[in-house]
Amino acid sequence: MSAIILAGKPVAEAIKAEVSTEVAGLIDIHGIKPTLAVVRVGEDPASAVYVGSKVRTAAEIGIGSEHLHFAADTAEAEIVDVVATLNARDDIDGILVQLPLPAHINERRILETIDPLKDVDGFHPVNAGRLLQGHESLVPCTPAGVIEVLRRSGIEIAGKRAVVVGRSNIVGKPMSVLLLQNDATVTICHSRTRDLAAITREADILVAAIGRAGFVRGEHIREGAVVVDVGINSVTDTGAVRELFPDDEQERRLAAINDRGATLAGDVNARDAMAKAAAYTPVPGGIGLLTVAMLMKNTVTAARMRRLASI
Ligand code: NDP
Repeated sequence: MSAIILAGKPVAEAIKAEVSTEVAGLIDIHGIKPTLAVVRVGEDPASAVYVGSKVRTAAEIGIGSEHLHFAADTAEAEIVDVVATLNARDDIDGILVQLPLPAHINERRILETIDPLKDVDGFHPVNAGRLLQGHESLVPCTPAGVIEVLRRSGIEIAGKRAVVVGRSNIVGKPMSVLLLQNDATVTICHSRTRDLAAITREADILVAAIGRAGFVRGEHIREGAVVVDVGINSVTDTGAVRELFPDDEQERRLAAINDRGATLAGDVNARDAMAKAAAYTPVPGGIGLLTVAMLMKNTVTAARMRRLASI
């Protein structure tokens, strides 16, 4: 078997086009320009790239944005004040605090300061609780993106056995809840799970959100499963390339290490997934592309919920 590739790009582009039409409608009919504020603290290079991509995508689809950047030694109380000010501004619909924050700042305190109605990352406990109870909420972008990829690729979720490896608040837990809401039978695995492979081999839909390159291998994958790879890991070792990637990708991967010092790998061994799965989301080019698109969608949802009391 050679898995069908579930590419993220067409799904992300379709969502962005829909959001862009919605934004135009909000501006024309209601005079509302959905606007996102992104708060970044410190100089983490990956965060700078992510924030750049969020601000650029917002501009492309007509969403307003403000990028507030603070020095790494900014006091926690100052960031709390910044968030409180954004909460109070009627022209700001979404607030995103880019993680990770510097070690002296309590992430939870900052995230819990965000008005749940403006919490476009969906990390506030109020939104997590609403999601769990099946009420309308702002849903974390990456797991919401996974559901969009599955749905728009015509993969049925209802009645399927889904296994999620990873239980973080950002990916694993909300992913499991969303699959449950879509009527899958869901199992959540983590680092203390015994005989992981026996459980993951039962999955019709297997989602890996672990943070370890190529951790999910052939022995974890049922023949014909749909494998969703959320992981984003940097691989610098040319030896690992032969193990992790199918033959026809190796030259490109080795060239990437040669040119840029690294290539991106998922949490799933792509070579094994391509051989055993029915469908697989590649890394890069899979779920990663959905996160920003879903952030845009959440910003528009937040604008509708707060300003028009509709979704
Ligand atoms: P976390 O580190 O917060 O969570 C990792 C999870 O994996 C934990 O629940 C952990 O279990 C579990 N885990 C670790 N080792 C094992 C093991 N040996 N067996 C089974 N489970 C294990 O990571 P995140 O959820 O934030 O991210 C997961 C991956 O997704 C990362 O690669 C990250 O880069 C990527 N990511 C991608 C995004 C995107 O596409 N835009 C967005 C966010 C994340 P335990 O709880 O027991 O420690």
